[in-house]
Amino acid sequence: MAGSRRNYELAQYIAEQWRAYGLEDVSLIEHPVYLPWPVRYEATIVAPVRARLSLKEEPIPQDKDSSATDVGIPYCAYSANVDVTAPVIYVNSGNPEDYDLLARHGVDVKGKIALARYSVPYSYRGFKALTAQRRGVAALLLYSDPADDGYKKGEVYPWGPWGPESHLQRGGIVYDFNLPGDPRTPGWASVPGGRFLPAEAAVSMPTIAAAPMSYKDARRILENMGGPTAPQAWQGGLPLTYRLGPGPAKLHLVIENDRKVRSIWNVVARLRGVESPDEWVILGNHRDAWVFGGVDPSSGTASLMETARAFGELTRSGWKPRRTLVFASWDAEEFTLTGSTEWGELEADRLKAGALAYLNVDSSASGNRFSVSAVPALTTFLRDVARAVPDPSGGSIYESWRRSEGGRDQEPEVTTRLGSGSDYTVFLNFLGIPVADLTFDGPYGVYHSIYDSFTWVDRVGDPGYYYHAAMARYWAVAALRLSECNFVPLDYENYAREVRVYLDETERTARERKLQLDFSSAQGAAKRWEQAARQSLEAANRALTAGDEKSVERLHGSFLKVERALLDQAGLAGRPWFKHLIYAPRPTYKPLVLPALTEAVEANNEKLAVLELDRLSQALDRATAVLESGLE
Ligand SMILES: [Zn+2]
Repeated sequence: MAGSRRNYELAQYIAEQWRAYGLEDVSLIEHPVYLPWPVRYEATIVAPVRARLSLKEEPIPQDKDSSATDVGIPYCAYSANVDVTAPVIYVNSGNPEDYDLLARHGVDVKGKIALARYSVPYSYRGFKALTAQRRGVAALLLYSDPADDGYKKGEVYPWGPWGPESHLQRGGIVYDFNLPGDPRTPGWASVPGGRFLPAEAAVSMPTIAAAPMSYKDARRILENMGGPTAPQAWQGGLPLTYRLGPGPAKLHLVIENDRKVRSIWNVVARLRGVESPDEWVILGNHRDAWVFGGVDPSSGTASLMETARAFGELTRSGWKPRRTLVFASWDAEEFTLTGSTEWGELEADRLKAGALAYLNVDSSASGNRFSVSAVPALTTFLRDVARAVPDPSGGSIYESWRRSEGGRDQEPEVTTRLGSGSDYTVFLNFLGIPVADLTFDGPYGVYHSIYDSFTWVDRVGDPGYYYHAAMARYWAVAALRLSECNFVPLDYENYAREVRVYLDETERTARERKLQLDFSSAQGAAKRWEQAARQSLEAANRALTAGDEKSVERLHGSFLKVERALLDQAGLAGRPWFKHLIYAPRPTYKPLVLPALTEAVEANNEKLAVLELDRLSQALDRATAVLESGLE
């Protein structure tokens, strides 16, 4: 866990390994950040029966790590503190429409303890917390229902991938869709002796208390619920009738977390580019886990280590990269994307001047299904890389990727609508750097529990570690190509086409809402951008064929700056840290495209929407101008 002694030792271990591999400038970078740890978590049913809930995950004989005694108190990071006795209400997934349904049934939620299921439909746990906070709930318990990640899905661990009875999902509830990173330093880095605001003042801090729970414990509560029968869609996988309450189950709940500042440690190393040392290709993965982190994040860390080792070996054969490769092991991702955010803020100037791309791998393998999210400029490139890398099942990753989508004639899908949930956020939304997020996923019901362990990965997730290795190969080939290419393979024609689709969608929404908005100038700007992108790509190919290095270099330099042009320094309304005008996360973590404009439209704020259309057109014009500057 971030802030622990063990985590620091692992940072040192990684640094030592990287030095031994031959990486350069290996450093541990300290960031003092607001990082609360749990002190107390107790839940006792006080009516209609009396029972103290265990709130503990039980040992499994097949997994020696599950019997460890020092795994800490399960908690939700950045929860408020609470000591309350109140009746329980069952709120299904804890989304706004769920509370609306409770209201229609006449269930008063104010001052009650809300029991909410994780997932189905998915929303970030911080959004459930925000919703509960807005509805005046006293505290929120987040439990893993067997219908979502337990026995209703299939075999439970150790026999299968799903969560056993007592597993529970830790995690942050911070409002990092408003502001990620140390809440005390919005937009600048937390460094020893630096400037800090009070954490309580931050737009990212919840005022509600929340904690995780297993279905073993939640069952005791649900068995003692009365009130209206919950709708069919709300019935979970436990053998009982789910009821809305309130009560008669009544809980005494104590949640206490400390309010400490702790040091976190990013490990960053380089292989300095010999031709263009100021142009960076960055590979990152987080190191901190909630407990053992078998998949999340250590599968990714294993792939990162192997990638770094391979590059070290290449340099030993005399090879030097053309551009600089940066390797990063982030800390405290689980808290609020903390380590990557602080480093991005620290290195903002150099990153904005020369970063080509950030390639993120959080979990590398919880299964065998290749899955990629990236900005539209990178989709063609990422598919090309997939064609070059073998898949453990035979053929290339590209082939198995396409097969897994059932498509024959269609390109496999890169998710271009980026939300949030891992370390790429600072690079995309704050710095305007092209990002990609890579994983092999599969059924994985033990996320953030003690059962996400070495043994889970070894027995269930990736026996033989073939997909860990495949990810290392993919990651290395992608980084190598970006480092060595003549001009960066960013496809802005594709990007512009996507933006035109987003504009069409938003225009439709605006029309449905009877807003008087003229999209023609924004559409025109996107069209001009698409044209400029096509022209510069053609020019680059011509220059390459003609061996005109000067033009190639100029065009490459312009491609590098296009994503940056999509930022607006004023940022989004109410969350100025988020500066990208094409992508932002919704509070649910779902992607929000054309965020400033869409939010204005969804709020039926015509006046603001007019301004946002203009701000967007200007950003698209800037992107066009950047490309045209390469065409001179
Ligand atoms: Zn992770």
